[in-house]
Amino acid sequence: MENYATTEMSLDEPIKMDAMIEEEESVSQQNSISKTARWGPNHEGAKELAQLYSREKRLQEVICVILSTILTSADFCFLVYHFKSSHLLYMIPSVFAGILTADFASGFVHWAADSWGSIELPIVGKNFIRPFREHHIDPTAITRHDLIETNGDNFMLTIIPMAISVYKFCTLSNDEITSNYSNEAYMFALVLFVCLTNQIHKWSHTYFGLPAWVTFLQDLHIILPKQHHRVHHVAPHETYFCITTGWLNYPLEKLKFWTTLEKIIEITTGIKPRSDDLKWAKKSH
Ligand SMILES: [Zn+2]
Ligand SMILES: [Zn+2]
Repeated sequence: MENYATTEMSLDEPIKMDAMIEEEESVSQQNSISKTARWGPNHEGAKELAQLYSREKRLQEVICVILSTILTSADFCFLVYHFKSSHLLYMIPSVFAGILTADFASGFVHWAADSWGSIELPIVGKNFIRPFREHHIDPTAITRHDLIETNGDNFMLTIIPMAISVYKFCTLSNDEITSNYSNEAYMFALVLFVCLTNQIHKWSHTYFGLPAWVTFLQDLHIILPKQHHRVHHVAPHETYFCITTGWLNYPLEKLKFWTTLEKIIEITTGIKPRSDDLKWAKKSH
């Protein structure tokens, strides 16, 4: 773990190499048959997890994407309608705070799903933990998922906050909206980046055919860069959980944030982090 607590520029080369090998092996196995695949679509655990993606789950994702898109678009229209140039001064820090919160939320949800719970948990296991387990043993599966499968669950998380914001715009007076505008700008930036998180994550695993503007944003580290995210993809996947911009990964690692949380949970409950993740990684039949 100490190795990770360095700047990105000084990350140990072996770590980078291990992660790249894991990814390349995963890609190469898409075209070959291996009964003892360590990673990739031919890994026994990956095959089993891919089969657990159900029609009901797909329907839930479609509904969430539609509802979230309608509500977020309505919220954006209200923000534009009520915009005044005097809002700009407060809007910029609000939007920045929204993006930072989205990055932290991506890390927290990712850490929680990677480290705790299991596929056996009723409802949550097969529907919401499964994609995280699949992603570690077949990291390029995400690049073969369409827009709905990639983004459905993230869109789901934004439905209630956006419904509340739209309700406020419909019921508050103009004066109340003006005084509350920076909060709404914060919430919109947060929701927008939560919606974009898994798409950004997918781009960080995509080596071919990315639009030039995506590569440009990755190179500037405005969104999650490829090399940066590779640090997470070294077993046992215990750091660099933030996958929106990745800005918080280094400070959280420096603060030993995730390790401390894990120690507290382990001491209080006796449950070891990532035991289910390890079980799936070891699956060979
Ligand atoms: Zn992970
Ligand atoms: Zn990943």
